[in-house]
Amino acid sequence: MADADCLFCKIVEKKIPARVVHEDAETLAFEDINPQAPIHLLVVPKKHIPTLNDVQVADEPLMGKLFTTAARLARDRGIADRGWRAVVNVNRDAHQLVFHVHLHVLAGRGFRWPPG
Ligand code: AMP
Ligand code: ZN
Repeated sequence: MADADCLFCKIVEKKIPARVVHEDAETLAFEDINPQAPIHLLVVPKKHIPTLNDVQVADEPLMGKLFTTAARLARDRGIADRGWRAVVNVNRDAHQLVFHVHLHVLAGRGFRWPPG
């Protein structure tokens, strides 16, 4: 299930350290190493899925879990009411650099729309 060359699989397997803020059977959340906002978390499925293009119908509960995990973290961090941004980058034009699906949770400042 894990991809031997995948950075986030290595974090899931605890082969590379990360500042983990949540873990359950299907997901892991940790602090982004290069935060783009005062709060910048990444929520990942433990299962290796390279991009959103690769999500299958069978992954629908897992994808839902990413969002419920993100929403719980937002509540716990006290950012739910003021607001936060959920971002998933897909492939080159969207600036995806790590090819293991991850939901960015960004908060603690105002964000522009449309995004850059
Ligand atoms: P993306 O550009 O959407 O693929 O996002 C990849 C994110 O992973 C970036 O925000 C990076 O700062 C973050 N990142 C890269 N390496 C690590 C790491 N070892 N631990 C935590 N976050 C990382
Ligand atoms: Zn992976």
